Amino acid sequence: MCHLPDMGEVVSVAQIHVDMSKCSGCGACEVACAFQREGLFSTVRGSVMLHMEDRVDYFGIVLKRLDGSLLLGRPEGVEIVNPGGPASGGAATSKPVMLRQPCDLCGGGDPWCVTFCPRDALSVGGD
Ligand code: SF4
Ligand code: SF4
Repeated sequence: MCHLPDMGEVVSVAQIHVDMSKCSGCGACEVACAFQREGLFSTVRGSVMLHMEDRVDYFGIVLKRLDGSLLLGRPEGVEIVNPGGPASGGAATSKPVMLRQPCDLCGGGDPWCVTFCPRDALSVGGD
């Protein structure tokens, strides 16, 4: 039987998740996303962006979600931050990724970033 959500029911939305214990900072997700979107091997077109700071072994990703919030994965953990807001605990900047298209889960098909991540760090799940 078809189940329609009633008012007030929280509907889980599929999103990309990252396991920072697996991420190597290779950047393949960023290039894969840009290629599936625009046919370009580019590091400035993806909905997900490699994040690096001038510190040894400090890297992660920033992913622009459909609602404008950001999935921020860094060595100290994973959090969801509002666009333009300060990312707690660090100096991560969201500005470059805010100029890009948000993640639409590759139009509902197989997410390329998940497929091409060599460390199985990315997955699709609920909020
Ligand atoms: S799911 Fe698709 S659109 Fe979203 S970040 Fe990954 S490759 Fe890009
Ligand atoms: S492709 Fe996977 S391992 Fe590489 S930066 Fe993206 S999430 Fe990390």
